[in-house]
Amino acid sequence: MKNLTFILLAAVFLNLSGCASTTNDSVAGVKRTQFMLMPASQVVGMSSQAYTQTLQESQKKNTLNTDKTQLARVRNISNRLIAQVGVFRPDAVQWKWEINVDKSDQVNAYCMPGGKIMVLTGLIDQLKATDDELGAVIGHEIAHALREHGRERMSQAYVQQFGLQALGAIITKGSSSAVGNASTQAAGLGSQLFFALPNGREQEREADKIGLELSARAGFNPEAAITLWQKMNALGGAKPPEFFSTHPANENRIADLRTLVPKVKPLYEASKSK
Ligand SMILES: [Zn+2]
Repeated sequence: MKNLTFILLAAVFLNLSGCASTTNDSVAGVKRTQFMLMPASQVVGMSSQAYTQTLQESQKKNTLNTDKTQLARVRNISNRLIAQVGVFRPDAVQWKWEINVDKSDQVNAYCMPGGKIMVLTGLIDQLKATDDELGAVIGHEIAHALREHGRERMSQAYVQQFGLQALGAIITKGSSSAVGNASTQAAGLGSQLFFALPNGREQEREADKIGLELSARAGFNPEAAITLWQKMNALGGAKPPEFFSTHPANENRIADLRTLVPKVKPLYEASKSK
């Protein structure tokens, strides 16, 4: 009986989850197998709704895209990065990418699943970020989306929340409607999770690696990733950047980036000669 349960469990997982790497192997060398229980379409749908809501709230507060020059700058930098995403996953070229800027003191930026980018002006103003540094931080955020780290976090939280009970229900009922119900429950949970659950260390390392390669391919000097984090750390102290709430401070990050820069430098140089 135990064996049968195991086989059924395995079958459910194989059906529901993509147990593979979301991105192609590349210079960055990221190829970890990922656990994905939540359907990608659902995660993207939830994110899209949450993003639309954020835009509406910003609009009400008159903080959305108020500085046209700044908006054009952020969109130009982001579009250069987006032009390179096909290297990591060809399907991402077709994503419905959106890039907006919210006027705020917060030092923050994010890219929600499916390519919904938001840059808060505190990031630009307080860090006095150069184009290369913005390329580094937006590249890092895009890398999280390409790796579907949000979906991965939601899948992990879902299993922790509902655990084997939910899987047991799915197996017992054996119907697609049971799966549907479980997924609906997760939807409400999931939209909050994107912001509530910080990325894990491994996810951060992956976003650093892929983000650095992405920015180098887009013609941004990879050295800027190091100065970006130095500036971010220097801002710490009394009022740490909001970015740290989703990006736990990691003292090894700058050292790791230093070892990565030479790997992607040739891609940066090649992009310059194009
Ligand atoms: Zn990150």
